[in-house]
Amino acid sequence: MTFVKGIAASNGIAIAKAYRLVEPDLTFAKKTIEDVDSEVKRFEAAMSKAKSELEAIRDHASNELGPDKAAIFEAHLLVLSDPELISPIEDKIKTDKVNAEVALKETADMFVTMFEQMDNEYMKERAADIRDVTKRVLTHLLGVQMVNPSMISEEVIIVAEDLTPSDTAQLNRQFVKGFTTNIGGRTSHSAIMARSMEIPAVVGTKTATEEINNGDIVIVDGLKGEVHINPTPELVEQYRKIHEEYETQKAEWAKLVNEKTVSADGHHVELAANIGTPKDLKGVKENGGEGVGLYRTEFLYMGRDQLPSEEEQFDAYKAVLEGMEGKPVVVRTLDIGGDKELPYLELPKELNPFLGFRAIRLCLEEQGIFRTQLRALLRASVYGNLKIMFPMIATLDEFRAAKALLEEEKQKLVAEGQKVADKIELGIMVEIPSTAVLADQFAKEVDFFSIGTNDLIQYTMAADRMNQRVSYLYQPYSPSILRLVKMVIDAAHAEGKWAGMCGEMAGDEIAIPVLLGLGLDEFSMSATSILKARSQIRNLSKTDMQKLAETVLTMQTTDQVIEAVKFAVK
Ligand code: PEP
Ligand code: MG
Repeated sequence: MTFVKGIAASNGIAIAKAYRLVEPDLTFAKKTIEDVDSEVKRFEAAMSKAKSELEAIRDHASNELGPDKAAIFEAHLLVLSDPELISPIEDKIKTDKVNAEVALKETADMFVTMFEQMDNEYMKERAADIRDVTKRVLTHLLGVQMVNPSMISEEVIIVAEDLTPSDTAQLNRQFVKGFTTNIGGRTSHSAIMARSMEIPAVVGTKTATEEINNGDIVIVDGLKGEVHINPTPELVEQYRKIHEEYETQKAEWAKLVNEKTVSADGHHVELAANIGTPKDLKGVKENGGEGVGLYRTEFLYMGRDQLPSEEEQFDAYKAVLEGMEGKPVVVRTLDIGGDKELPYLELPKELNPFLGFRAIRLCLEEQGIFRTQLRALLRASVYGNLKIMFPMIATLDEFRAAKALLEEEKQKLVAEGQKVADKIELGIMVEIPSTAVLADQFAKEVDFFSIGTNDLIQYTMAADRMNQRVSYLYQPYSPSILRLVKMVIDAAHAEGKWAGMCGEMAGDEIAIPVLLGLGLDEFSMSATSILKARSQIRNLSKTDMQKLAETVLTMQTTDQVIEAVKFAVK
């Protein structure tokens, strides 16, 4: 039995067989071939295996995810039967007397380079198809397995170096019982998504992929951040009990689903949910969310090969607004960049993507993309209680520019005779220290703030939120972070505005008492954290927490803050 330790990223216990989502080794050597006919046959056999495999994936994707998602595999099948690609490969084997791997790779690379250089989107997509198909045929030539999470059809624990947000979005909740990764932190987007999907997860283990083989039995302990490999029957039994206790605890919290969130001394705060897609509304309702405090719209743009149209976006925003039946819905405009990539935008690679051309910076430059989203939002505004929020605002000029574009689109829609809600609150995320420091000035112009601590912490502490080696610096309870949070809340209240928080800190057991004391109005968190937070707040006196907040703001270290909170809520 082995054990690896990581960061508890999503609560719960999962026990299942390991499924390694690790890229296969596709390296090979160049060889001279004497018997070219049998080499051509070997190539043809690999092609035919790839074809049957792709047909199965296409059918599965079409049944499970719909014909749209299957279209990409249809395109790959076309590449596999294209004589313009196949003939030159076979000719190369025969005339150059090289092994099939070399003939395939060199020929495919030539086409990929040629198509990529064309100023034509269609041909660029074909280049991507050829690259994918080449990889698949190579796995058959080399006798290695290509990973394919969409084909998983039994209960598994995913084991991976890392999972991108779009990998995570494609995981089938029915079969994926948990996951563990080598890298990542509690606020990596894969961890955030695991929480909204209620999949137990341990990230940042450094060595999970080295320690775990396909088929090993694995326990993911998302409560403590531990992964046990091939556990003893006694340990499995122990974990079954922990799992049952956790379920009993959840059943207790569930009794609060229709209750208001009121502190022991009668102060109400709003507990809202962070969502990534309209599908997440089910979890918001089941967990008694009083609103949506953050709709991360970028997930609408991921896992596809082109931008979503205005109509598609309108449908998604309308579905969320209607689904929330008049409760507040804060929609954040496109926040792409950092660990969230959109390959089809073909943005140049940056050395520091978290400090680069992302979120509002990209939207103010690529105005076509931004205006489409704003129009869809404005049109959807009549279906509920919409509030719009801009991400990564660093200066007042950025806010004013974004607001001006929104106003322009609103005027255009009204002139076209479209209905738009009269009043849409307009706010910003405070996730850059410059904005927190200048919050008193921002508060004169915005309707609300939502503090994005996931980024605010990383930018304040200069500690990458994805990097477990600097996670000791990435601490929400640092007095420096708490002081910034106070500045933002006080600045909002001085202008009669409200302040929320949509970073993971808002649902954190140690942070909640301090945030209540600081006067935070809205706490937005993974839906699955809401009931626990409600139960906690109902037992706290806001007056006492105000005193606690005053004390911790004068402290020197994170550990002192943690100790003071634990002592105060004992
Ligand atoms: C944040 O930065 O706190 C936030 C909520 O946004 P994201 O996690 O999507 O960067
Ligand atoms: Mg952020």
